[in-house]
Amino acid sequence: MINPVTGKNFQPSWRIAEFLPEAMAFYASVEARLGTKLWHPHPVLRLAADPKNWEKIRGKLTAQDVAPWVVGEVHPPDERWVGAVAVRGGGRLDVKAFLDASRAFFSEQGLYRQAEMDDPTASSSRRVWCEGAAGLLLGRPAPHRCAKGEILTLRAEGWDDTQIRIGNRGWLIPLGGGLFKVGATYEWDELDEFPTEAGRAAVQAIAVSLMDEQFQVIGHEAGIRPILRRSEPLIGEIDGEWFFNGLGSKGSLYAPGIARRLTACLLDGARPEPELDLGIFLESLKTHGQS
Ligand SMILES: Cc1cc2nc3c(=O)[nH]c(=O)nc-3n(C[C@H](O)[C@H](O)[C@H](O)COP(=O)(O)OP(=O)(O)OC[C@H]3O[C@@H](n4cnc5c(N)ncnc54)[C@H](O)[C@@H]3O)c2cc1C
Repeated sequence: MINPVTGKNFQPSWRIAEFLPEAMAFYASVEARLGTKLWHPHPVLRLAADPKNWEKIRGKLTAQDVAPWVVGEVHPPDERWVGAVAVRGGGRLDVKAFLDASRAFFSEQGLYRQAEMDDPTASSSRRVWCEGAAGLLLGRPAPHRCAKGEILTLRAEGWDDTQIRIGNRGWLIPLGGGLFKVGATYEWDELDEFPTEAGRAAVQAIAVSLMDEQFQVIGHEAGIRPILRRSEPLIGEIDGEWFFNGLGSKGSLYAPGIARRLTACLLDGARPEPELDLGIFLESLKTHGQS
């Protein structure tokens, strides 16, 4: 999912005005090249159940950085919600279709090889460590704040499938054909990829709060969000090796723009801009610690 205005503070994502258009242009160009639909735009219905939370959201609707994303206040779908606002610019990226089609494309060109973990034959001068959570859990390239999350796939024939719903610390995304994804839990201590009964119960409760009980669970997955500092990724060269990590829960939004900047470093010798520079981040950790 890409959701431009997020969190309990109803805050636009970091540098969204820059990275969202870049991501949209990138996915559109890949769709045209590979002949596969990847991006499914949907209005985002942001719901508030708590009057204080709604006042906070409402107070931000006309703020300069928020207003461009606001379609307008709408009636909450039922009496469980005190307020609702429709947000533009969001949607769902079909990540599996993107990865499958990309892999097939590069395979046809003879440019794809399944990377082996820590392949000793890979040339270090051309290697980029983009290992996601797997690398962060090994301490590469920096201390992390990864968070496990569990999501469910549901079948619910009667539900409205025109909007993404966000509220009660959860989200619900229509996949089409009566299917939905709903999530997600946050867990910082048990960092594994095993779905749990507690996670399933927590996500089912989110589904009930966002819609109703008329669904069937058909899938349950767990993963680890690769977090270095919130969902603000970093790139950089450490001891002659390049790193790209820390996409957090916003890989779909930031990966295209950050990858383009990394490419400029690798091919044109550009330096990462200071805000994205892993080396500067590591230095600041030494001085200030994790903030
Ligand atoms: C519950 C949950 C919900 C999320 N929701 C969203 C969302 O709504 N929107 C969104 O945009 N993002 C979301 N994310 C985050 C998104 O999944 C990540 O941002 C994204 O996957 C990070 O991409 P990555 O390529 O850096 O890492 P990964 O996706 O982890 O990919 C890294 C790959 O490298 C491989 N690898 C690792 N080490 C090595 C090695 N040494 N050698 C060879 N291969 C290696 C791994 O096996 C893996 O295939 C969510 C994540 C979770 C867990």
